[in-house]
Amino acid sequence: MTEKYAVNRSTFDQVILPVYAPAQFIPVKGRGSRVWDSEGKEYIDFSGGIAVTALGHCHPALVAALQQQSETLWHTSNVFTTEPALRLASKLIDATFADRVLFVNSGSEANEAAFKLARHYAITRHSPYKTKIIAFYNAFHGRTLFTVSVGGQAKYSDGFGPKPADIVHVPYNDLAAVKAVMDDSTCAVVMEPIQGEGGITPVDAEFLQGVRALCDQHQALLVFDEVQSGMGRTGKLFAYMHYGVTPDILTTAKALGGGFPISAMLTTEEIASVMQVGTHGTTYGGNPLACAVAEAALEVINTPQVLDGITQRHALYVAKLQQLAEKYGVFSDIRGMGLLIGAELSAAYQNKARDFLAAAAAHGVMILNAGPNVIRFAPSLVIEPQDIEEGMARFERAVQDVVNAA
Ligand SMILES: *Cc1c(COP(=O)(O)O)cnc(C)c1O
Repeated sequence: MTEKYAVNRSTFDQVILPVYAPAQFIPVKGRGSRVWDSEGKEYIDFSGGIAVTALGHCHPALVAALQQQSETLWHTSNVFTTEPALRLASKLIDATFADRVLFVNSGSEANEAAFKLARHYAITRHSPYKTKIIAFYNAFHGRTLFTVSVGGQAKYSDGFGPKPADIVHVPYNDLAAVKAVMDDSTCAVVMEPIQGEGGITPVDAEFLQGVRALCDQHQALLVFDEVQSGMGRTGKLFAYMHYGVTPDILTTAKALGGGFPISAMLTTEEIASVMQVGTHGTTYGGNPLACAVAEAALEVINTPQVLDGITQRHALYVAKLQQLAEKYGVFSDIRGMGLLIGAELSAAYQNKARDFLAAAAAHGVMILNAGPNVIRFAPSLVIEPQDIEEGMARFERAVQDVVNAA
């Protein structure tokens, strides 16, 4: 490498599109739930790459799958199918309500496919006017123009010209509000079973059951965006499994490849049957490297050892956060499911989430926010309990710094 290409944090401001404000350090290596930066400083990772590295960094089973596939076959496109894609699809179908799977590369693309499928199904089976999508305020579904438009935060969808039409937003967990806009022109209700980016807000079971019944009554599809909540994050393989409510279409991404980009849209035989050769597609989706890694991740995550271990880890986080809330008055609410946990900042600390992130990094722990007022924890599902304790001790020192600076 020549001097000319030596990089440091300030290189970011010269070469990357200015849509992010990354932390001041540069991670260069990870093992399990520990990460090291370019200066050799060690961190405990409670961020999990935004709920992605569900088995920590460089899990041996994922490394082995990637190494083996990398010496076998990298890419064929979907003009030719591959064995890893067929195996992964079969295993996802066995583990869920679904009969059919489409692989794409990101959460946005899986949702884009889901929304197109919901519209296409309604138009094909029912009426060309059955196109209304009901979605929720504060929802996040991705960054393509369709997915930001279904998402419930105007700040992400404004400023890009005309938006896809016939999308209505109502308050989350408000069944009367859904009922008020639901009619036979509705093709789908789209929701996260726990809102992630919007502030870690779990769904009410009764609300979910009510929405399912309304969808059935009006022949609308129920679409669950499990991009963040899927693959064990909430303590079951998919969050819908907690509620006895089954969606018609489900998307998953983040943890699916444990850090290798891949996403999937799952649906039933009946709904899938409206799609034909050429109706939708992707060049990279179902890439054998990605599918081989995801297959290995699914094999590890979908076991009692991993899923049952999440309850105990959840309890460790919540107990410590409640302690911090009492001791320092920084949090007004602790909520979430499994290892997707949110701590809402109290009135005195409004809009200060980023201060907590910076202080945490200074003390050697990587955390996330979910909006300006919620601290989010989305660690590895197999994080060692002693890493939780050590990381939370570091986090407490960060909280002290923010409190002292206020
Ligand atoms: C992250 C996320 C997305 C978008 O996924 P990308 O891979 O960033 O496109 C969509 N929906 C939910 C619920 C998410 O958390």
